[in-house]
Amino acid sequence: MTVRTRIAPSPTGDPHVGTAYVALFNLCFARQHGGQFILRIEDTDQARSTAESERDILNALRWLGLEWDEGPDVGGPHGPYRQSERSQDYRAYAEQLVEKGHAFYCFRTPEELDRIREERKAAGQNPGIKGDLELPAGEVRARLEASEPHVIRMKVPDEGVCVIDDMLRGKVEIDWGQVDCQILLKSDGMPTYHLANVVDDHLMGITHVLRGEEWINSAPKHKLLYEYFGWDMPVLCHLPLLRNPDKSKLSKRKNPTSINFYERMGFLPEAVINYLGRMGWSMPDGREKFTLQEMIDHFDINRVSLGGPVFDVEKLRWLNGLWLREDLDENAFIERMQSWWFNREALEALVPHIRGRAEVLSDVAPMAAFMFSGMLNLKPEDFAHNKLEEGDVKRVLQFALWRLEAQRHWSKDNIFADVKGLAKAMGLKMGDFMFPIFVAIAGTPNSWSVMDSMALLGPDMTRSRLRHALQVLGGFSKKETKRVEKEYAALLAE
Ligand code: GLU
Repeated sequence: MTVRTRIAPSPTGDPHVGTAYVALFNLCFARQHGGQFILRIEDTDQARSTAESERDILNALRWLGLEWDEGPDVGGPHGPYRQSERSQDYRAYAEQLVEKGHAFYCFRTPEELDRIREERKAAGQNPGIKGDLELPAGEVRARLEASEPHVIRMKVPDEGVCVIDDMLRGKVEIDWGQVDCQILLKSDGMPTYHLANVVDDHLMGITHVLRGEEWINSAPKHKLLYEYFGWDMPVLCHLPLLRNPDKSKLSKRKNPTSINFYERMGFLPEAVINYLGRMGWSMPDGREKFTLQEMIDHFDINRVSLGGPVFDVEKLRWLNGLWLREDLDENAFIERMQSWWFNREALEALVPHIRGRAEVLSDVAPMAAFMFSGMLNLKPEDFAHNKLEEGDVKRVLQFALWRLEAQRHWSKDNIFADVKGLAKAMGLKMGDFMFPIFVAIAGTPNSWSVMDSMALLGPDMTRSRLRHALQVLGGFSKKETKRVEKEYAALLAE
């Protein structure tokens, strides 16, 4: 048997370090067994998936040095590798399960389902939606003929325990009572994650599924689907979730999570991969610095420990420093600096903003320094403004951050439209509104157009600086956050 593993990202956001982490372990496992590693794009959520996000994820994984044997960009014998292009198959598979009696057509509206859930809860039953949704065959036929909107749901046992074998966790028991009659095919004809994931893992010959711990609750449904179809189930392995230093689940509020941020900060891909390799895993001889190839050579999945690995940017900086000092001679160092940001292309983007403001060339470096920096050294006083209270300053930063977090097409014009819309909705003059943003992004209100700066710095560095500025100002308490969220929602609704 050839080992085949895969990473199956959904292209709905920034390339996440968690995706790279899971990809790395899948790659090492496959290589160590002389097998193949596949990249599949799970874009069945059409409202949230974007081509831009897919491109960014592929680029980021490549930047890290992770290479896949089959995927949407490199092709392969099991394509297409993008689920939206495989959509015909899924309906046939779902209908096959209906014919076998393992799934059924469901015509309930969301309101009806809410009511049923409430009733079950009130009667002291498990709220999980069960087969009592099934209608008599004649009625189903009539409704289908009348083209009534419907979904296809899988049947799930009412009670009992589902036992999942996990490579790291041994036997995991999950109560069937908690498991819904999962939708397999949505009313728009698209498959849900569960159906598409199982069908594709099977058709692509995946033998081992290494994925994040957050998917463990999906495993019973998947196990059942494999049984219903009569297919062998891949071996499952749920990797521990990455955590913030305070042990909570890794989140962008506390730690930058986008791989692009680390690239923009000037981390070396070798160091980032090295650090991710140390998340729950260690070299048999305990050495802290190792290459991807060394990790593959010594890989052993059983050495993964489950105690939530902490992704700590300070440790990553330290490790990156080792790589910079020990592995790059002066020439290589210069080359890295050039390919990073000290190059002609970057200057071409900057000079139009600097040329009109500099009197002597020695003005250039201080003026442009913030473009080459990581987090700026800001103090709360830097945000003092004669028309804005501190609360306003924080709200401006927070609202701009939320707005720009939702912006999927990063360009000066779009940033401008977002910011202008917000200023207007908040009833602030553009100049006043922009003041805190200038300070957050450039460290001073006296810089060139901050829209241009944000466009050039890119989404990840921009958002990180806005978050950092909020932190410098003490952020919002939990209670305040609730209020501010409401206010923001009301602004957007206007
Ligand atoms: N599309 C899922 C994700 O976004 C894949 C989960 C899995 O590996 O089964 O991570």
